[in-house]
Amino acid sequence: MVRRRKHWGWGYEDQQPDHAALEASAATICERLGLPAREPREPVGLEQLALPLPRIEPPRQLAAFSSAGSYERAAHALGKSYVDVVRGFSGDFAHPPDFVCFPRAEFELEQAIEWCSSQRVAAIPFGGGTSVVGGVTPELPSGYNGAVSIDMGAFDRVLEVDPVSRSALIGAGATGPSLEAQLASHGLTLRHYPQSFEFSTLGGWIATRAGGHFATLWTHIEDMLESVRALTPAGAWESRRLPGSGAGVSPDRMLAGSEGVLGVITRAWMRVQPRPRQRSSVGVRFADFAHGAQCVRAISQSGLHPSNLRLLDAGEAALTGAGDGSHALLALAFEGVDHPVSEAMGRAREICREHGGVAGERDGASDSGGDAGQGAGAGGVGSWRSAFLGAPYLRDVLVAIGVMAETFETAITWERFDALHERVIAAAHAALGPEAAHARVQCRFTHVYPDGPAPYFTVIAPARRGSEIEQWLTVKAAVSDAIVAAGGTITHHHAVGRDHRPWYDQQRPELFAAALGALKATTDPAGVMNPGVLIDPLA
Ligand SMILES: Cc1cc2nc3c(=O)[nH]c(=O)nc-3n(C[C@H](O)[C@H](O)[C@H](O)COP(=O)(O)OP(=O)(O)OC[C@H]3O[C@@H](n4cnc5c(N)ncnc54)[C@H](O)[C@@H]3O)c2cc1C
Repeated sequence: MVRRRKHWGWGYEDQQPDHAALEASAATICERLGLPAREPREPVGLEQLALPLPRIEPPRQLAAFSSAGSYERAAHALGKSYVDVVRGFSGDFAHPPDFVCFPRAEFELEQAIEWCSSQRVAAIPFGGGTSVVGGVTPELPSGYNGAVSIDMGAFDRVLEVDPVSRSALIGAGATGPSLEAQLASHGLTLRHYPQSFEFSTLGGWIATRAGGHFATLWTHIEDMLESVRALTPAGAWESRRLPGSGAGVSPDRMLAGSEGVLGVITRAWMRVQPRPRQRSSVGVRFADFAHGAQCVRAISQSGLHPSNLRLLDAGEAALTGAGDGSHALLALAFEGVDHPVSEAMGRAREICREHGGVAGERDGASDSGGDAGQGAGAGGVGSWRSAFLGAPYLRDVLVAIGVMAETFETAITWERFDALHERVIAAAHAALGPEAAHARVQCRFTHVYPDGPAPYFTVIAPARRGSEIEQWLTVKAAVSDAIVAAGGTITHHHAVGRDHRPWYDQQRPELFAAALGALKATTDPAGVMNPGVLIDPLA
């Protein structure tokens, strides 16, 4: 039997805990979060869903690779944000696609795009469906006759490896585990590990400019992008394979972050690397987040480039089992292929000491291969990493037991970070209202640059059962307002989608929006590619 992913949450259908297991988890989780006891609820089953009737049917030329089945429509109706999981859990599928296309080759994809353009039907590229910004939800502006989700799952092969240049041509639908397994047989890795690694795809990463697990240097997918191919309604867009080029505005960069509004990415040549052989990691305690942040700034400006430089505040460290709530924790790690990392680690530890940091007793050093990004941890780093990887599964349980868990990510220059941090935490607490008494608003750095960090806030609070969406909207708006008012970006790596549009529109230059609209009008003259995301089609 084919193992199916849940139509509403993370993981596979057979991974959903039963009621007894949920009850047991509810007690433990509520105690750990300091929340009043919550009674777990059951998700609305597929057979109980009343999906809106399809407005259109697959035409003859698409029928062989399309489905209008309830499972496919529901499973492509939402992404995987907190509010998506709440909606899916409670059977609220207001905007499913009318049908889903599963093209197996470029000519089938071309047929699907052509048909959507000719019928004024929205075409929504779908990779792993892990968007947390409403990027794959067919919630359309008026004037469309229907919506088709285009699932790129069949484009999942590593098609070619160039060991001389160390690049690989990879299909856009390949998920993290699939492309890494294929590259591993060549002794190579893409070394891109977003938290959604298990289900998200190369095409989705490029379309959203995803950020990987590593804190510095090559961690954004576009850093590894050598050339890219997409099919647009106006034809193919393929850039030349080059290690670098000063020939005008970059065609790769114009597709990176295009969020499906220009066309569908089908494959890309990616820069790959041998698997790291040298690793060293350590957890360093700081009295508080502010002292840790000063140290992180010093390391990020030292030219050392650790692979991990994640600072967790005391609450975040405690919640992930990496601390006891009395101190902030810095997860510090170095990785290398060619030369030892001990010297760099030694200097980074010195900088930590200079800033009052206390390193854990055991240094997780290793010179063996293994799974990059998942290496041994020390001083609480291992606990944090397990919690990081298990978090998407835990969130489904939190929704079942009535706990809101939402995240906000941004980036800001160092000189404005303290003010932004204060403002966001205050805004979240104020927006939570009565639930603030039991809430946790925590912060960690996911990525760090010499000129500023990418802070990532987690808000955990008792959900207002029955009005979870209104509660979420209030908190989302308040925190997003605070981020943009403090000078941050509305997104550092989660993308714009539909959910971030109001704040993205404030942040981007007006003239740039007009230029992007003109580009869209060229590649997508009928305005059918993912309408509502990123920019509006020209009127
Ligand atoms: C638990 C969790 C953890 C996450 N962690 C991270 C993280 O660490 N870093 C990070 O950057 N993001 C993270 N995300 C967000 C999400 O995983 C990323 O945005 C990811 O890049 C989406 O990939 P996907 O294949 O699932 O794309 P989808 O969700 O299917 O699509 C995302 C957007 O890209 C478009 N798209 C997808 N495929 C294509 C294609 N082939 N051509 C053109 N457009 C396309 C879609 O139309 C949509 O607008 C996380 C999400 C969750 C739920």
